[in-house]
Amino acid sequence: MSIVYLNGNFLPESEACVSVLDRGFIFGDGIYEVMPVYGGKLFRFNEHMSRLQNSLDAIKLHNPLNINEWHKTLIELIRLNGGGDQSLYLQITRGSAKRDHALPKNPKPTLFAMCNELKPLPVDIINEGVAAITLDDIRWLRCHIKAISLLPNILLRQEALDQDAAEAILIRDGQATEGAASNLFAVINGVITTPPKGSTLLPGITRDLVLELATNNGLACQENNISLAELQQADEIWLTSSTKEILSVTKLDGHKVADGKPGALYQRMLTLYQDYKETMRRE
Ligand code: PMP
Repeated sequence: MSIVYLNGNFLPESEACVSVLDRGFIFGDGIYEVMPVYGGKLFRFNEHMSRLQNSLDAIKLHNPLNINEWHKTLIELIRLNGGGDQSLYLQITRGSAKRDHALPKNPKPTLFAMCNELKPLPVDIINEGVAAITLDDIRWLRCHIKAISLLPNILLRQEALDQDAAEAILIRDGQATEGAASNLFAVINGVITTPPKGSTLLPGITRDLVLELATNNGLACQENNISLAELQQADEIWLTSSTKEILSVTKLDGHKVADGKPGALYQRMLTLYQDYKETMRRE
C-alpha cells in the first residue's frame, strides 16, 4: 500500500480524502511538479522548487512550505515508500472554498504528494526510437505554468496514441513548440536546437539539463524556433521529460526521420545523461 502526503500527514493512499469543494477538483485551480528520485535522492530538486515557485507566483498563490520543509517532507515520503528510484508527484491547489471564480481572500491550499514507479526506458525504445505526430497546439498561452488543468494535453496525447504514436508534437503559428508532455529538440545542420522559453512551452528541467550537458561537453547547441518544415528535415528529433528522460523520434507523421534510426548525437546525449545521473547517485 503506497503512503501519500496530504496537508501535513503521511497516510495510506486509500485513506487520503479531499473536499469536493476543493478548487483543484472544481476548477483545476492548482499547480504541480514531477521529480525523478534516484537512489532515494531528489533529482534537480532546487530547479524543480524554483519552477514550483514560478508556477505559484503566476497563479497568485503563496507557497505553504519553505524549501527546507519541502525537502524534509518529500524525503520522508520517499523513505516511507521504500526509497530507491521513484517518480515523485506533488500538487498544490487553492484549497476548498464556496464555488466562485473570484480568488478566496485567505486560501488554505491543499498539499498533496505521492510516489509512483519509475521504470527505466525499455531497451527496444532506446534502440528503435518512437513515432510522433504533429498536431495543432490547442492549449492556452500560459504554457510555462505547470497547471494541473491538462485537458488539452490529455486530448492531444490520446490523439497520438490513437494513431499509434508515442507523443504529439505541437505546432503553433507554423512553429513546433513542444510535446504534449515533453520538450522538443531537433538536430538541424549538426546543431542541437530547442525552442526558446516563453509562454508557449513548459520550461522543462530535463530540457535545461540537456542544454547544460551539451554546453559542458562541447556539443553545438542553440535555443531557436523550429518551423514545421525544419522539423520535417531534421537529422534527429528528441523529446525530453523527467520520467522518459530522452526519447529519439524516428518516425514523424508516418515518415522516417533521416534514416529512421536513433542518431549519433542522441546516443551521445543519452550516455551523458546516464553518467550525470550515476554521478548524482554517488554524491
Ligand atoms: N512540456 C510539458 C507540456 C510537460 O508536461 C512536461 C513534463 N511532463 C515537459 C515539457 C517536460 O518537463 P520536465 O523535463 O521538467 O519533466
